[in-house]
Amino acid sequence: MKILYFDLSAILVLIVMIALLFQRKDRSNLTNKLLMMVYLNVLATTIFDLWSEAYNIWFLATETDSTFRYFLYYGYFFSRNLTPPLFQLYLCSLTDTWHILKKKKWMQLLFIAPYAMVCLLLCSNIFFHEVFYFDADLIYIRGPLFYGLHLCAFMYFLSGITFLIRFRKVLAADKLTALICFYPWNLIAILIQAFVPEFLVEMFLNTMSLLLISNIVQRPEEVINPIIGIRSHIAYTADMKKSFYLKKPVHILIAKIVNYESLLTILGNDACNGMMKHVSDQMKDALIRKNNTAELYYLENGMFAAVSESEDMQYYRDASSTFANAIYGSFQYGKLELEMDSCLSVFRCPQDFDNYDSMMSFIHSFYSYLPSGGNVTFLEDENDNRKFSFHLRNEIDRILSTAIAEKKFEMYYQPIYSVTENRFKSAEALIRLKDEKYGFISPQLFIAAAEKNGTILQIGEYVLDEVCRFMAECSKNRLPIEYIELNLSMKQCVQMDLKDKVLYYLDKYDLKPEQINLEITETAANTSQDVVDHNMSSLSDHGVSFSLDDFGTGYSNISRIISLPFHIVKIDKSMTDKVFDPKINAVLKYNIQLLKEIGMEIVVEGVETEDVLNACKDMGCDYIQGYYFSKPLPQQQFVQFITAHCAS
Ligand code: C2E
Ligand code: MG
Ligand code: MG
Repeated sequence: MKILYFDLSAILVLIVMIALLFQRKDRSNLTNKLLMMVYLNVLATTIFDLWSEAYNIWFLATETDSTFRYFLYYGYFFSRNLTPPLFQLYLCSLTDTWHILKKKKWMQLLFIAPYAMVCLLLCSNIFFHEVFYFDADLIYIRGPLFYGLHLCAFMYFLSGITFLIRFRKVLAADKLTALICFYPWNLIAILIQAFVPEFLVEMFLNTMSLLLISNIVQRPEEVINPIIGIRSHIAYTADMKKSFYLKKPVHILIAKIVNYESLLTILGNDACNGMMKHVSDQMKDALIRKNNTAELYYLENGMFAAVSESEDMQYYRDASSTFANAIYGSFQYGKLELEMDSCLSVFRCPQDFDNYDSMMSFIHSFYSYLPSGGNVTFLEDENDNRKFSFHLRNEIDRILSTAIAEKKFEMYYQPIYSVTENRFKSAEALIRLKDEKYGFISPQLFIAAAEKNGTILQIGEYVLDEVCRFMAECSKNRLPIEYIELNLSMKQCVQMDLKDKVLYYLDKYDLKPEQINLEITETAANTSQDVVDHNMSSLSDHGVSFSLDDFGTGYSNISRIISLPFHIVKIDKSMTDKVFDPKINAVLKYNIQLLKEIGMEIVVEGVETEDVLNACKDMGCDYIQGYYFSKPLPQQQFVQFITAHCAS
């Protein structure tokens, strides 16, 4: 006699699984809907299986008519054979490969043909009884075409496994394993039942394999953010990796609450989460109402994403402006009036980003380059320069690491003219980086990035080495350049071993300390003051001189400047440019006089015209640097420039 407990247990487990899936917040998502259909179909199959077997046990002796018995068996066969194609649809949705299925006719055929065959076999059985029938004693007998059903199931087995192997890259290893196991697991079940028919384990094992999938593949805690109730950042990662791998075109809207951290501190965790929930509802209103294919994600720390396949550009423009208005501006919280500061970006994948990593680094940085309430959209009509500069910023870390590895930096030298001696006496060393894709990259941009990612120390060391080597070459060739000024970054200024490094390179190229001059900005001089003081005084004790760079751009702290061993003050171009403005002129005159009285020498930067040159001379500046004389030049051209000017 057949053991029915397996089917009974399968039904109970399936009911629990269906209930759990039903109460999930994301049950309406297509993948979950298809999984629900698989569960319901397996439940129906199990019920037909149990019912027909129970019917056999209880009524075989008394029954004379086989109609109801036929109904149960047809029900069983139709639903049993529907599971593999439904499962295949679920796989398609899970791997997000609909667009591939839509394009490939042979795939659609492979998908439909076996089940169409099953339907044909079962319908023909009504007339010909070639698949199965009940004999005169109402005993179930398999017909010769019965194995046609197995053949169809086997076709799904092969196509399913091939499909999973083909798209293995879009699934995490554990999920892939759980899905592949579905097939051998069911095969084993069929074999057990073929050899030991009283063990009615087929549906039970089938259910167990679905249980495995529901726990490993469809983990709700991974997919849905439990607090905000929309898809989580883990889901975003998985979905975007899939999109990039499959080259599926999507549009992405990113919204970042820029002052999220401050709001969290003021409001506390619960209220801040409540607010994020409110933002997510507004996002749903702005985006989903017009296009219910958009998928929403919460990427943590006040960042939201909406991903859609729609090609309608106006939709993105409207949605982003509605949404921007909703999440920007002041709001009342209890007695407090708070500001919500946010930035938005709309872009396309894969058109706008080559790969997943560069897209991720963009979404985590774009808002730091935007003003409050700013937005950057990369839709068709977008300004190319802006896009270019965002891409450059986005790729700067990669560019820097290759530049360091491949030694792609070069030093340029800008001549500095001495007013009193009427000749070029020194130069400023300025670093240059040329990238194949982006051309010359502004040092302001890459030095700031290098300070952030830590590569500045390696770059600084390269500059020291290269400048000392070049200065040694200049003095060997008797070029009348007495010293070269080189820029020290903030991070270098606070390096404990700065003195040792500088002395090491002076020694390496046999240079005197007076042959180099270190430029420090006011901001650098004011950070970690103790270390900077120590570095400057010990280097100056060894005879190295310092310049205060970019004078006039910060909040000058005269007492601090006086207390440090600066020898030169460099007036920034922003001041030089306004030399004819009466107020700036008065401030400059007064400051130059004051600085000279305390023994400093003055360099003016950014002198481009003769008028400015004369005005600077009149104010008593000692040195002039600027395009009026020369732009920064590569080493060879600089040597030619100085040689030509000392001959004339
Ligand atoms: P900075 O030290 O103030 O350098 C002067 C900048 O003004 C240079 O820009 C120079 O090319 C530019 N300049 C000089 N004369 C004129 C002029 O007449 N007109 C105009 N429009 N510009 C002029 P650059 O080379 O782009 O460097 C920008 C900044 O990047 C530098 O400002 C400095 O802070 C930093 N930097 C450059 N090289 C290095 C380096 O080797 N190490 C470090 N740490 N920073 C560097
Ligand atoms: Mg400088
Ligand atoms: Mg400067």
